[in-house]
Amino acid sequence: MAFTQKNKLPLSPALKYAVAVSIVLVLLAASWFYMNKAKESVTYTRTLMGTVVQLTLIEGEPARFDEAAEAAFTEISRLESIFSSYKDDSDVSRINAAAGKALVDIKPETVEVLRKALYMAALSEGAFNPAVGALGKVWGPSGEKGVVPAEDEIKKLLPLVDYRSIILKEHDGKAGLEKEGMAINLGGIAKGYIVDKAAVAMRKAGVTRAIIHAGGDMTVFQRDNEKPFTIGLQHPREKKLLGEAFVYNGAIATSGDYERFFIKDGVRYHHILDPKTGFPSKGTQAVTLIAADPTIADALSTAVFVLGPEKGMALIEGLDGVEGVIVGEDGLVRVSSGFKGKIY
Ligand code: ADP
Ligand code: MG
Repeated sequence: MAFTQKNKLPLSPALKYAVAVSIVLVLLAASWFYMNKAKESVTYTRTLMGTVVQLTLIEGEPARFDEAAEAAFTEISRLESIFSSYKDDSDVSRINAAAGKALVDIKPETVEVLRKALYMAALSEGAFNPAVGALGKVWGPSGEKGVVPAEDEIKKLLPLVDYRSIILKEHDGKAGLEKEGMAINLGGIAKGYIVDKAAVAMRKAGVTRAIIHAGGDMTVFQRDNEKPFTIGLQHPREKKLLGEAFVYNGAIATSGDYERFFIKDGVRYHHILDPKTGFPSKGTQAVTLIAADPTIADALSTAVFVLGPEKGMALIEGLDGVEGVIVGEDGLVRVSSGFKGKIY
C-alpha cells in the first residue's frame, strides 16, 4: 500500500513534546521500580565497639542500601569514640582523668546517655551503676583481665562505686566525679544508645524496615506495625535457642554471663558486676528485655541481671511497655506477663 499523506499522524509540536516527555517518565519510573523491586534483604557486617555489628536492611530504597549502611556505620564509630573506656580522648576517659579535680566539657550525646544512666541507677537502686568504672582497674573495663583480684583490693574500691557522686550539669554540658579514683563506665548503656542512633541514620537514608544487631543489643523498625520480627533468644548454657520473641518496633537487649567470662577453680567470672560486692553478679544466667527505647533497654537488662530473677521480674512488671525473659542460675526460665513469644 502506498504511503500517503493521510496515514501520517497529525501531531502538533507541543503534543510530540508531551509524548516524548511521557515516554522518558515511564522509562525512569520503570528503572526506579526495577532497582527497588528487590525484595531480598541485604546484610552488612562490621566489627565495631568490640563486637560484631550486623545491619539487615529489608525495605526502603534498595538502590540506597549501601549508602544507608555506610551512614549507620559512620555514626556508630563516631559515637563509639565518645563513650569508649578504651580511648584516651573519649568523653568517658576525660571525665575519669579529672576525677576529684574538675568538671569537663562533654558532648550533648554524653549528657543524654549520662542522664539516662543516672535515672536507671536510681530506678534500680544502684544495681545498674555507671560508677563501676572504678572496678575496671582490677577486672578490666569489660572484665577481660582474666585474673581474680584479692578481696581486700576490691573492698578498697567499693566506696568509689558511687553513682550519687557523679556530677552532671546538663545545661552547662559538663560532668565530673566527686572523688579521686572514681571512674565511670558506660559499657552497660552506650551500645543501646548507639544502635538507636544507627537506626535513625538508616531511616534518614530511606530505609523503612531493618534490624540492627550489636552483641547483646538489637533494635528493629518498620513503617507500620504490620508484621512482627521473630527474634531468637540464645540459650545461656547450650548451643541452641531458648525460644523466640515477637517484636514490632523497638529494642531487644540481652545481658548474659556466657559471652565474656573466664572460669577459675570452677567459678565463672563474667563482665557484669554486682556493685555491692565488686564481684561478678550471681543469681542470673541471662536476661532479655523488650522495650521501646534501646538505651533504657540496655541499661535495664544489666540492672535486671544484677537484681536477679525475683527483684528483676518485679522491676520489669512495674514498668509500662517493658517485657522480658530471665534465666536464673538454676536454669529456670521466667517470662513477664505481657511477653509475646515462645519458650521451647
Ligand atoms: P554487653 O555489654 O555484653 O552487651 P551489658 O549490657 O550487660 O552487656 O553490659 C555489661 C557492661 O556494662 C560491662 O562490660 C561493663 O562495662 C558494664 N557494667 C558491668 N557491671 C555493671 C553494672 N552493675 N552497672 C552498670 N554497668 C555495668
Ligand atoms: Mg546492658
